[in-house]
Parts: sequence; C-alpha cells; structure tokens
Amino acid sequence: MSLQYLSDELKTLREQGLYQKLRVLDGEQLPVATFDGKKVINLSSNNYLGLNTHPRLREAALEATRRLGVGSGAVRTIAGTMRIHMELEEKIARFKNTEACVVFQSGFAANAGTVAAILKKGDIIISDELNHASIIDGCRLSRADIRVFPHKDVAAAEKLLQEAQSQPGHKLLISDGVFSMEGDIAPLPRLCDVAERYGAIMMVDDAHASGVLGRNGRGTIDHHGVHGRVHIQVGTLSKAIGSLGGYVCGSRDLIDFLYHRARPFLFSTSHPPSVTATCMAAFDVLEEEPERIARLWENTRFIKKGLQGLGFNTGMSETPITPVIVGAAKLAHALSRRLFEEGVFAQGIGFPTVPEGKARVRTIVTATHTPQELQQALDVFARVGRELGIIQ
Ligand SMILES: *Cc1c(COP(=O)(O)O)cnc(C)c1O
Repeated sequence: MSLQYLSDELKTLREQGLYQKLRVLDGEQLPVATFDGKKVINLSSNNYLGLNTHPRLREAALEATRRLGVGSGAVRTIAGTMRIHMELEEKIARFKNTEACVVFQSGFAANAGTVAAILKKGDIIISDELNHASIIDGCRLSRADIRVFPHKDVAAAEKLLQEAQSQPGHKLLISDGVFSMEGDIAPLPRLCDVAERYGAIMMVDDAHASGVLGRNGRGTIDHHGVHGRVHIQVGTLSKAIGSLGGYVCGSRDLIDFLYHRARPFLFSTSHPPSVTATCMAAFDVLEEEPERIARLWENTRFIKKGLQGLGFNTGMSETPITPVIVGAAKLAHALSRRLFEEGVFAQGIGFPTVPEGKARVRTIVTATHTPQELQQALDVFARVGRELGIIQ
C-alpha cells in the first residue's frame, strides 16, 4: 500500500511515547474546561484575556452575521473586500500607531505571506533560531538565503549582517517579539540598533505579545519603546484578541505592496464578517478594560513564583508563557499525561517544536484564572513532579 510508510512512522511515534491524541474540548474555552470528557484546569490555551467568550465580542459576531451574512464570498482582490475589513485594518493601524495595516486569514498566513512576498532569491534573511514555524516557512518560500543566529544573540546577528554587507540583495532581520515556547522577550532595542547600522529591514512577529505586552497590549514595540524602528510588525488576532486572523502593520507602501503580492491575500478568501466584527470589538475591549491585562500579569507572577518555588526549571520566561522544562520528550509527555489525570491540562511539547533534550510542559495562564485555581494547579504540579522524580 502506497501510504504504508506513514503508518510505519506513526507506529514509531507510538513506540517512542511521542504519539499524541488530539484532546477534544466540549463547550467553551474557559480557565476550567472539559477536555476529553474531563473537567480540568486549563493551562493550554492562548486565550490570554478571556476574550474567546466575552459577551461584547460574541454579540458583535452575532450582529455582523445577521447584518452581513456568514461569508465574504471571494478573495480580497476580487470581490471579497467588505467595508468592515477596511474598518478593522484602519482600527488596527490607529491602535499600533502605524500608517497602515493588512489583515490576513491567520498569523501564520501573515508571516509566511509577507516574508515570501517582500524577498526573493539573492536576498538575505537573518533569523533567530527559535523563530516561529510560519516565519521559517515564509523564509523558505521566498528562496532568499537564510542565516540563523543563536537565540537572542545580538552579537551573532550583527556578525551575520556584517558578513552579508558586501553581498547584494536586501537584508531582513527577523525575530519573534515573544518566543512561543520559551516565553522570553526579544532584545528589540539592540536588534534595531544592528538593523539600522547595516541598513536591514526589521521585522517582528508579535503573536504572543498582542494584547499582552505594551500599553493596552500594543506589543513588544511599545513595551520596548522602539516605535518607528521596526518596519514590519506582525500580530495575531487568534490569541489574546480571541478570534482568528493575523495582521501586518507598517508604512502605506508596504501594505499596498502586500495587497498586490502577498499570496494568502491574493489567493485565499477573506474572513467572514463575524470574525472581523469580533476583532473590532476586541480592540475596544483592550482600550476600555485594561484591568484584564493587569490580572493576566498578576496571575503570571503567581504561577511563575509557585513553579520556581517547587524547584521546576522554568527557563527564561518573562511572560504568561511559563515552560516547565524536563529534558526528554517522553518525560514531558508523561508529566502532561499525569497532570491531566490529576485535573490540570498543560500540553507536553517535544522535538521538533522545541530542540531535542529541551522537551517541556508549557503552561499559559489567563486573566480569568482565579488564584484558587492556580494554587490547585500548583498543588498538582508538586505532587506529580515528585512522583516522576522531576523535583525533590
Ligand atoms: C501562534 C503563532 C503564530 C500563528 O498565529 P495564528 O494566528 O494562530 O496563525 C505566528 N507566530 C507566532 C510566534 C505564534 O506563536
């Protein structure tokens, strides 16, 4: 049978304890939610601010559906640009204080579509080794030369830019704003320094910083005060914003160029009105309910302190993403499985999502977890961590 080799590979994954069954959520994405029929404390979603179920967002989706229907009917460049799509882009551009914005179907499409559109063979990309898969795919699609620097190593990035200086072609320096597996923040001021020194384009993917870092969740550019120094800011609408989508903010010409050349924009249908209306409402909530972000950070401090106090290795996290690094993928998956049995859902993550030997369980708190829920989760971590010999 022609697909037998796939079955063989799956068998190997099972033997290695790396096979993962999809956990199925019944009901809403809440801080305590029902996965696979079991009620658990949910430390696995990216629903940072609880906006997935915010009444105002839900109402916006329903109202837009009633008024405008359930689908856009075409790609943006043919007949699929609705008034509401333009309004959302204008709203995000104002929020980020940039000239313009383009919304994509997902953050993945935003990254991959943008990098592939603005660079070509002969150009050079300088990329952090822990950048997101969508950046890596965009780099590959562009056919530019990809040069990877060790995580957050600005001196190494500078060296690569220096080496590329005599070569023709455009240079792009690209980094996640917040790294999705480590939860640490990119050293943007120093990255901007070297990008400027060598005339490189500076691009930041703020998927995990949108709605989390900076004033009212404006992201790492705002957090670090590097306004005007990052040419291309990517954000997601799928995480803290609560719905689905990705966006690119920058100059009017950058956005106009992407309207003409970004392939997900040209060849894939735009969002239904409900998604777009939901995102519009989410940006209003970011401005009007800053207490959500404050609670997110209170909860972040609480769980980090708790996990570290128990003796877990939480790496270099500085954000609501707190990894519990255990080493072997098998151990990470065992930890995740036992936590789940004891009522805590934190996903195990191994190679190739993280480097080999750095497998982990990743926790993400949200603004809507109560201190009691988080303490209960810590108690389970303590018990299971000792049982598996991860902590004393
Ligand atoms: C999740 C994520 C994306 C993709 O965003 P989606 O909107 O889910 O497609 C891109 N970059 C990073 C760093 C992410 O964590």
